[in-house]
Amino acid sequence: MPEFGDAKLKEWDSDVVAGREPLRPESGLLRGVTTDRPPRSAEARRAFEASDALTRLVVLPNAHDLQARAALLEKALATGDQRSVRVEGESILELLARTYEITTPRLRVLGTRPRKVWEGGQFELFGDYDFQEKRIRIWMRTAVLEKVTSYRGLLHTLLHEFCHHLDREGLGFLETPHTRGFHGRVDDLYHLALATPPKSRRPLVWIRMGSAWRIDWSKLRTSRSGDR
Ligand SMILES: [Zn+2]
Repeated sequence: MPEFGDAKLKEWDSDVVAGREPLRPESGLLRGVTTDRPPRSAEARRAFEASDALTRLVVLPNAHDLQARAALLEKALATGDQRSVRVEGESILELLARTYEITTPRLRVLGTRPRKVWEGGQFELFGDYDFQEKRIRIWMRTAVLEKVTSYRGLLHTLLHEFCHHLDREGLGFLETPHTRGFHGRVDDLYHLALATPPKSRRPLVWIRMGSAWRIDWSKLRTSRSGDR
């Protein structure tokens, strides 16, 4: 699992601040979870802080329905068939969109993850969300070995991308920043889909990294090892 490279973080941040970013590219979703840095403008900063504070989803989809659809996604992924993965992924998105009374985002399921390597780091794309098209893309094979990605990893990517769509369409966070609240909302859907028993679910623990935050995995290792 690659971590974020600093260069990439800077690039994303400058795109967000300038409001030019058409895509939300994702890498290192579980191990390298970091927040974006707060934007400079007062208005963007207010939305950022509101997103940061909203650490739980008040409304959740029907648990049994979500878990049943997630189980079908797991079965589809085991077949390695992109079309089946798309159909079951769309079924999850349909339930979520209906729950939050927003449009259903489009979904594309692609093969081998794009990968960029530079001196001192590498970047593997897991998924992204296109603001204009309202379209999620997820990749289902690892960059180097081209093996089918883990079910939990793929599910997490899908829910993460849905939360960008929910931010823009339902919560009014148009820049849909990666805040502690954003990651908390993804975590809510992820553990609901997996039917994680409440006592096994660890709260996300954040440690400061300059003006951003990253997850302290040493506090989560027991509950999350083997996610990818
Ligand atoms: Zn994201």
